Amino acid sequence: MLDTTIQSVYTLPPDKLAKALVLYHAGNWAYFGGTAWTIFALWLLLRLGAGSAICNLAARLTPRRWLQGLIVAPLWLLILTMLDLPISLALHRLNLRYGISVEPWSMWWTDFGKSLALTLVFGTVILGVLYALIRRSPRRWWLWLWILALPVEAVAVFIIPIVIDPMFDHFSPLAKADPALVDQLERVSARGHLTIPPSRMYVMDASAKVTGPNAYVTGFGASKRIVVWDTTIREMPISQILAVYGHEQGHYVLHHIPKGMLFFAAVMFIFFWLAFRILHWVVPSIENSWHISSLDDWSSLGLILLLVTVLSFFADPIGNAFSRHIEHQADVYGEEVVHGLVPDPQATMAQSFQRLGELWLDVPHPNRFIVFWTYSHPPTADRMRFAASYDPWAPGKHPRYVSPQ
Ligand SMILES: [Zn+2]
Repeated sequence: MLDTTIQSVYTLPPDKLAKALVLYHAGNWAYFGGTAWTIFALWLLLRLGAGSAICNLAARLTPRRWLQGLIVAPLWLLILTMLDLPISLALHRLNLRYGISVEPWSMWWTDFGKSLALTLVFGTVILGVLYALIRRSPRRWWLWLWILALPVEAVAVFIIPIVIDPMFDHFSPLAKADPALVDQLERVSARGHLTIPPSRMYVMDASAKVTGPNAYVTGFGASKRIVVWDTTIREMPISQILAVYGHEQGHYVLHHIPKGMLFFAAVMFIFFWLAFRILHWVVPSIENSWHISSLDDWSSLGLILLLVTVLSFFADPIGNAFSRHIEHQADVYGEEVVHGLVPDPQATMAQSFQRLGELWLDVPHPNRFIVFWTYSHPPTADRMRFAASYDPWAPGKHPRYVSPQ
């Protein structure tokens, strides 16, 4: 008898499992250890008087407060980046050694330089606005900051794929790189009663840096697009590419980008208010020992960055829980939309997760707490088990998003 059971358990051969475990533990150490290190180092710098020392340096160079900000803010942002640099270097070295990355160090340093420049420019503008608001509205600055952040968030999501992403990677129209694939993908979009014009499909030359496949949806309104990495085309058979694409189309059809922006706005509202409460409670009691003149003085910037680091750490599991939720929805949509286009959607989806997991060296059994805190996607094993068993076409059942043909 032919064995038609779909493989539903994600496993790795022993050599890959050993590598996956090293990468998994290194990633966890880098994240949790790196956060603890940044918090400790910022605390130490502040206790040693770095807040007032940097301000005094700026005051010696210029008497104007806004010009002082143009010295103090980039200096602190540079300190923050440098605190994280050793961890980034160690992770890149490990990814190179295990073949996850193929990015030469020269290219890595160029990318690092560009992202540092962006951090310094945009970070300084944002911090400048923050201090202007604190000075003008000591009780309501957090609310004004949030109101200002909303259009900035929309503009950022809009321009990132057009302006920022091309600074780091090369994109070209998928129709030019692989017209046959565009035809196949259009069958998937037609199946979902959706017309994604080929002009919205791009291929990214990811193979210059990494070996694993990926695809994603990005942008907003007129800049919204689907990006497929060239590694996906190279590493996966067409049926699996369609499954991966179906998942991405799910993000597009289910409006995950605007929903994500709304969610992010709600989280920002809570965290800005929390930051306001904490700062107004903590600053008066530590002003002297931490060498801070007042909250609206540039000497408080190190403390603000310390608080942002702590709050971001606690925001991560919230954002990741939301992300895992929409990723699961996209998995459901992806499997439904390729039904009738690939021979066996359950097997195709399950095999694509096995392939993705092997190429990215995902561990089969991540710790539940690590998943809760750091995973933006459900673990590969969970996605694969679900894909293999999901059968909304069985008698008496109904697909959730895509009606059967
Ligand atoms: Zn996704």
